[in-house]
Amino acid sequence: MSGFKAGKFERHQVFGAVRPFCPTHAVHKLQDVDTEALANRGIKLIMIDVDNTLVVWRKDDFAQETLDWVAKAKSHDIQIVILSNTRNPERLTRLAKMLDIPALRGKFKPSKAMYQEALKKFNVNESQAVMIGDQIFTDILGANRAGIESIWLQPISHHDFVGTKVSRVGERLLRGYLYRALSEPIDLPETPEQAAAKPFWERKIVHQIVKFGIVGGSSFVIDYCIRMTLLYQAPFSEFARTQGVWLQTHAGALFGGFKGPIEAFTPIAVTCSGTVAILNSFYWNRLWTFNIRGKEDRGAQLRRFIAISLVGLALNIMLTSMFVHAIPAQGKQALRIATVLAAVLVAVWNFTAQRLYAFKTPAAAAGPTASPRA
Ligand SMILES: [Mg+2]
Repeated sequence: MSGFKAGKFERHQVFGAVRPFCPTHAVHKLQDVDTEALANRGIKLIMIDVDNTLVVWRKDDFAQETLDWVAKAKSHDIQIVILSNTRNPERLTRLAKMLDIPALRGKFKPSKAMYQEALKKFNVNESQAVMIGDQIFTDILGANRAGIESIWLQPISHHDFVGTKVSRVGERLLRGYLYRALSEPIDLPETPEQAAAKPFWERKIVHQIVKFGIVGGSSFVIDYCIRMTLLYQAPFSEFARTQGVWLQTHAGALFGGFKGPIEAFTPIAVTCSGTVAILNSFYWNRLWTFNIRGKEDRGAQLRRFIAISLVGLALNIMLTSMFVHAIPAQGKQALRIATVLAAVLVAVWNFTAQRLYAFKTPAAAAGPTASPRA
């Protein structure tokens, strides 16, 4: 789940209706649960969910780190019991056997029945137990109803039962409220493995490409509108015409070749509109696409951004004229195809160079898509 935050929740800060869904803690992975610390404060029983908490949904192989974590908990004299809503009791028995721990199945979580059964079975009270699970609406809600501390774990994979997929939408809506009560947020940058495990459309680079496209579109519209206004919209058009006449009279060597005064003024109008469009792209790509906050390095980033844009412009001119000659089509048709092809390649250049050079940050070096705010 992208945007998952770890830390300790101040449950009293959450408003009443949401409080039953608020865990005590959230962790990125099972290994972040310090079993020694739990033992030191009197925890004797860990109740734990199975799918996407101990093992990937529907899979049978535990990660070595999970096996190590279970062994460590046992070494601190903590008993572990699986509480599961599974519809496959054979698999549950098999998994529990592999970990050499018991498993309970009963009235579905978030019913408190299974939690109470576990307390009774292991002869411990509510304050001596903790529940660990990846789902708010079953694992965490059930623990809260039973008066047991709960640890919300980031699901270890994005594969889920179809009903769970629906409840994930609810979790996304809820967690905004819950995170307000997070007192010690620990937000780790995404590892390359975590990034690769995400569905395609949830990957940060995909979001960046979409945002980059939207910013590019807005800059195109800005460029076009300013240019057309300066050249053809009164009272600017009158100004453009008189300046064009002046340019053709006083700088004939440069502007004499243009068909008329408006055409002679076009390079000036294009420079103005292009500058505003470049600044628009810089502002929104920095803030929105690449998520960079603060004024630090802004000057250096702008210089690199302009250098990249100028290289992009040169590439555009070079590629367009190259394609026009290479494309076997009629004049105007060939120009149209060449313009689109060149624009696509230049967009690839601009995106890659901005991502890896203009807006590269120390945090980005740690992970391919990490950003300072992440
Ligand atoms: Mg689960």
